[in-house]
Amino acid sequence: MSSPDRRRFPPPTLPEAARGPASEEVRRRLYLAALGVGAAVLALVWLLTWQRGPYDPYVLYVHPLLLLMCLWTAAWLLGGRPLVVAERVVFVANVLAIAVQMALALIAPEDAALGLASAAYWMLVALSILSYLLLSARGALLVSAGMYLLSVALPWTGLALRGRGPGDLPELVRVQLTCGAILVLLHGLAWYREHFLLERGERLTLEALANTDALTGLPNRRALYGAVERLLNAADQGKPACLILLDLDHFKGINDRYGHNAGDAVLAQAATRLRERLRGGDTVGRWGGEEFLIVLPGADAAGAEQVAERLRREVGTLPFPEVGPVTASLGVAQAEPGDDLGRWVARADAALYRAKVAGRDRVCVGGPPSEPVSG
Ligand code: GH3
Ligand code: MG
Ligand code: MG
Repeated sequence: MSSPDRRRFPPPTLPEAARGPASEEVRRRLYLAALGVGAAVLALVWLLTWQRGPYDPYVLYVHPLLLLMCLWTAAWLLGGRPLVVAERVVFVANVLAIAVQMALALIAPEDAALGLASAAYWMLVALSILSYLLLSARGALLVSAGMYLLSVALPWTGLALRGRGPGDLPELVRVQLTCGAILVLLHGLAWYREHFLLERGERLTLEALANTDALTGLPNRRALYGAVERLLNAADQGKPACLILLDLDHFKGINDRYGHNAGDAVLAQAATRLRERLRGGDTVGRWGGEEFLIVLPGADAAGAEQVAERLRREVGTLPFPEVGPVTASLGVAQAEPGDDLGRWVARADAALYRAKVAGRDRVCVGGPPSEPVSG
């Protein structure tokens, strides 16, 4: 049967960590720090070259442009605007700056070619880091390797045209090899990070799915076991804790009258109502079928009864769009020292049973466990 209802269901909620790293803010701060350092270096080199020489057209004319780019990007980032625009601007500026350096190295005299080429390699490292942040590891490898090969080939082409070879400029060979080694290390690091994060993300997603009820997005029975066990340990140390077992009344009749999809929609909406009505620290999960278990750390039986009353009204007061009014019965049980999960839930279940027998749409509180009959 097709089901228009399904579109209205809330999607299962996964923990934040499973949705991927929330790294935007960290990256924004990282870029601002890098831009600050970059701008300071550009300004300092420009000042020194302007005051003391030697004449270097790249530093004198391109550095001010790069400095402007740094300031504009910093202002863009500080304004909270989209990161991706800033990243692309810096990426393109970096590529252009390296291209200009290499073009100048092609025509510059020998010693100037060395200086220009060396400076370009450090920009190449920065470009490579940015590529790994912006592109896939494969895309970044292609950009880094392509730019590196061009940056090695161009200065040597210029020098070869003037009859010079690697033996004449060992300094340039050393700088190129160092830059190549750094780029290889960067790629290794990016590859490791991508695989490691992928594995971690998959593990977190699987964990979240294994502990989440697909229909309501609430913790499932398996996840509730953990929460109840923790409270049992606390109860052994004398701290109060309560369970509420909530069961929707005449739910079979709702399915029979309005269809299973309408029943599903009621379950999802009831889950949302319960979740929104609880304090932080309290947990509601789907115990099974149309039963919900609410775990209340620090609550005694009187406090839990009040919470249960509030939840009963929350479910019963407002009609559900698909089926009209739905009521719930609730059983409350306080943890006793020496309890185990089975006994504690059984007391909540017994209280719930009394609420059903007494006419439904009500709360009953279970008493302390009866002493075992001896003899
Ligand atoms: P009571 O007031 O005594 O609790 O009556 P009830 O009809 O709610 O209880 P009963 O245990 O007889 O029926 C529970 C129904 O809940 C039967 C089952 O088909 C339905 N149910 C269980 N899980 C789901 C579900 O995921 N979706 C839907 N739509 N129905 C479900
Ligand atoms: Mg039931
Ligand atoms: Mg029921």
